[in-house]
This record gives sequence, structure tokens and C-alpha cells, in this order.
Amino acid sequence: MGETSKSLNFIEQIIEEDLRSTHSKSDLRFRFPPEPNGYLHIGHASSICLNFGLGLRYNAPVNLRFDDTNPAKEEKAFVDAIKRDVSWLGYEWDTERYASDYFQQLYDWAVLLIKNGKAYVDSQTSEEMAVQKGTPTEAGSPSPFRERSVEENMQLFQDMKAGKFEEGTHVLRAKINMASPNMLMRDPIMYRILHKAHHRTNTDWCIYPMYDWTHGESDYIEQVSHSLCTLEFLPHRELYDWFLDQVYNPAQLRPKQREFARRNLSHTVVSKRKLLRLVQENVVEGWDDPRMPTISGLRRRGYTPESIRNFADTIGIAKRENLIDVSLLEFHVREHLNKITPRVMGVLDPLKVVITNYPEGKEEWLEAENSPEDESMGTRKIPFGRELYIEKADFKEEANRKFFRLKLGGEVRLKNGYIIKAESCTKDDNGEIIEVQCSYDPKSLSGSGTEESLRKIKGTLHWVSVAHALPAEIRLYDRLFTHESPDGQKDRDFMDFVNPASLEVLTGYVEPSLASAQEEERFQFQRMGYFCVDRQSTPEHLIFNRTVGLRDSWVKIQGKDD
Ligand code: ATP
Ligand code: MG
Repeated sequence: MGETSKSLNFIEQIIEEDLRSTHSKSDLRFRFPPEPNGYLHIGHASSICLNFGLGLRYNAPVNLRFDDTNPAKEEKAFVDAIKRDVSWLGYEWDTERYASDYFQQLYDWAVLLIKNGKAYVDSQTSEEMAVQKGTPTEAGSPSPFRERSVEENMQLFQDMKAGKFEEGTHVLRAKINMASPNMLMRDPIMYRILHKAHHRTNTDWCIYPMYDWTHGESDYIEQVSHSLCTLEFLPHRELYDWFLDQVYNPAQLRPKQREFARRNLSHTVVSKRKLLRLVQENVVEGWDDPRMPTISGLRRRGYTPESIRNFADTIGIAKRENLIDVSLLEFHVREHLNKITPRVMGVLDPLKVVITNYPEGKEEWLEAENSPEDESMGTRKIPFGRELYIEKADFKEEANRKFFRLKLGGEVRLKNGYIIKAESCTKDDNGEIIEVQCSYDPKSLSGSGTEESLRKIKGTLHWVSVAHALPAEIRLYDRLFTHESPDGQKDRDFMDFVNPASLEVLTGYVEPSLASAQEEERFQFQRMGYFCVDRQSTPEHLIFNRTVGLRDSWVKIQGKDD
């Protein structure tokens, strides 16, 4: 890991090269440009860490720019969620920008293009235009409106802006080259008519600029030096440069578009459009459902900003797409939570244990350390009594020698407590074990220094005192999709692979110190994994979400899991 953070990635190499030749350090400026049409996801985290990471590395400003050119899909609520998520990840933007702030400038430049004979109004249907586009190997054919006069184009474009036309009747196109081998250069659309209110400009505009026309010019307005985007924009670079050529003033800095590979995570989908379907079709509870690969879902699941940043740093950036196994993300959160979370005890699937030789009505408050990783986290007191809950799976009437938990006639240590021995058990009418009767060794209390307390016992169990336990709703999560690559399957819809058992809700019992646990507070439930207090949790109804188990149960990450 140290290696990757030291060696330069290929984007940094490009920047270093520019610093040696054309740019000074003060020229450097970056941006993260989300479209506010959904919540940010783990793929965006890579782009955020890349852009803001460069800002930190070169002490250069990074803008947060909302690419808000499609009022049909964009909302203020998404803007707010995106800002919250970027901040939560730990980054500060220099200025908050909106492509919509540039609508007037973009319009003025479009007029300039018309005057220079570089743009024209096309009045065909989109079907007609599609036919004329040609194919990658066959040149396109010109629109019958391609040679309209400047005056006519000016009048029509003004009328488009004035709201005189229906949607779909006219578009403004750049006049480039209908025979270009790059299909994107075959007179791309710059403006379309949309009679929709925009979340910021309201009904000021009824023509909206297209992405390609907007993005590069916005970079230019903001004097972004390196405009980093994902690989699908590689063929757009030629157009990005052509649009810049039309307005570029050599006294100013000229932005460069450079591309890196999109990051994909296994067992999920990273596309706002697809995540929106999960929300709309009620597969999940919302954008911040803890099963979602959104930043807000991961936060609600218990992920830390550090773990997401470390994950993004470890995978780095690449020139080719590949699938990153979600177990790597889990590795990073486990590693961080191990360091920062207090240990507590919670029983998810309770079985009652009665210690028959422990005095009735007696209670003891035992000392327990909060973290073996960090002494400064101190200690707390946990109540012990005659009746306890242990995990159902931790008891068997009979078991072989490899079962280091409780079995009849066998001993275990109760974490921070005594050594107990199972003497008998009681079953219900269905033959299910409902209670285990044990004896305990009063001299064996952990940390008491007696010979008995030092006795080596193979198994240690977590437990909670029945009299003091707090009931809690426990939410356990599994992969949201059963296929590692749900959206790459031929002839199949990604929704076909939704895991029907991705959420399991249990009622467990937790130790009383958790009564005051606050939203988003994180804990290690000993032996059971890392948990986080859900935002729906109240003191009367505690809810804990499992972030991740203690060990990787799907794929072993080589040599890193212990
Ligand atoms: P989506 O398909 O999820 O809507 P997008 O690329 O359309 O993704 P934008 O809001 O336009 O979403 O993305 C903002 C920035 O984040 C862009 O620069 C984009 O290239 C980058 N980005 C989006 N998805 C990923 C990903 N999976 N990996 C890396 N970067 C990404
Ligand atoms: Mg998009």
C-alpha cells in the first residue's frame, strides 16, 4: 500500500510533465462535476478522491461543479445530498459552481458560433437526423437545413430561446464534419428545446445546452487545468477541443480533458440510473439504504470516510476497466473499525443460560476494557447475574473436540467473567433447546489474579445479563445482488439478480451501556462483527446495522484477513 501512495499514477505523471513544460503550479485547478440526478456512489468516490487528492497534493483549488443541464432529471435534493457526501468524505471544495450559472455565457458563445458559420438550426425530427448520421464506416449526409443563412439561424435560435416552438421541433447543431470518422463530430447537437422548469433557473430558459457543449466551456470559464473524466469520454475529447477552439483566447489557460477508467464494484451496480430503479421499484428503502453502494448508504451502514478513502487509494486509478471485489472495500472498513471502535457485547440469537450455583438476586458489575487495540479507550462496567443470554449457536448438547464452545459437560470462559460448565438443558415440545443449566467457578473471575482465573480454557463466549439486557433490532445485510457483475450479463436485466435475502432482521439483546448510543455511533459486538446505530434508532427501540462481519466469509483477501 505504501508503494502505491508513493509512486505517481498516470494522471499525476501527466501533470508533472505539464509542470515541466507548459504549466506553472499556480495554473493547476481541478473540479469534481457530478450531475445532480441521483446520489453519489462508490464509483464517484474514486473520482472525488482523485480530484480532491490532486488538489491536496498540488495545493490547488478544486471546484464542486454541478453539471445541471437536464432539468427533467435533476433536483435540489440531489444537490444537497451530493454536497453532504463530499463533505462527509472529508473534502473541501474551493467554490461551488453550477453549469446553469453559465447558461447566458454559453448562449452568447452559441450566437458567436452561428455568426461565424459554425452552428445552424436544424428543423428535422430526431429520427431523420439519426438516419443521416451514417455509420462508423460510412459518412453521414448533410441536413437539408445545414446551409441556412446566418440571419435565418439567428432568428430561429432567438425564437427557440423565446419559447416560440414546441419541444423536438428545432435543435442547434455545430457545423463540423458529417464525414468525420468520429461520429461525435458529425454536427453534434448543442441545444435542444425543453419546456421544463430548472431547479435553479426556473423558467428563465426553455433551451438547454448539451453536455459536450457545456462541459469544456465550463472548464474554460473556471480555468480548470485538468478536466478528468471517465474513459467513455475519450471519443468526446476531439469535440471538447473543437468547442474550445471556437472561444479560446490564448491569454487564458486552456483546459485539457484526460480520461481514467470507471471503477466497478462486484455484487452491485454503480450507476445512478440503475440505483434509481432500485429506489423506485422499492427493492431498497431509499438512496441511503445500508445495502446501497451510495456514499450515504455506506455511511448508514457504518462505513467511515477514512475506510472509503483508503479503499479508493488502494485501488488507485487505471487506464482500463475492471471489477473490484467488494471484499476489498470490506477489508478496509474492518481494518479501520478494528482500530477505532469500542468492544461491547450483544447476543443476536439468544439462548438462556441459568447459573444454578450463582446466588439468586445477586448482581456484579464486572470490569471490561473497551478496546484491546487502544488502551486510552478505557474500561466500563458490565452487569453479571444468575441468568444470561448466550448465542444459540454457541451451545450444543454433544459436539466433537473441535467445537470450542459450550457443550454438556464442557467448560467455557465468559468474556470478562467466569468459567462456566454446562450441566443440563431443557427443551420445548418441538425438541428445541430453550435453556441451559450451568455451574460456575466463583474463583475464576477474569483479571482477579487467582490460580483459577488463569486457567486456560479453549473457548470464550460473549454474553449479556438477562436482567439488564436491552432488546435491540439487529439488521444483518448480505450482498444486494447474487451475481458479481449483475449489469454485465447478456440478455439479462440486472434486476434479475437482486438477492431476495439481502436483509435479515433479528431481535437480539445488548449490554446496558448501549442505552445511550447515538446515531452513527459504531461498535464491535464481540465475535459478531461491527455495528452502527441506525438513524431510525431511539432509546426505546434501539436499532443496529451490521457494517461487516469480523472475518471475510466470501472471498479471502490474500494474507490480509487476520
Ligand atoms: P452515473 O452513470 O452513475 O450517473 P455519471 O458518470 O453519469 O455516473 P456524473 O454525475 O456525471 O455521473 O459523474 C461525476 C464524475 O464522477 C464524472 O467525472 C464521472 O466520470 C465520475 N464517475 C462516475 N462514475 C464513476 C465510476 N464508477 N468510477 C469512477 N468515476 C466515476
Ligand atoms: Mg451521467
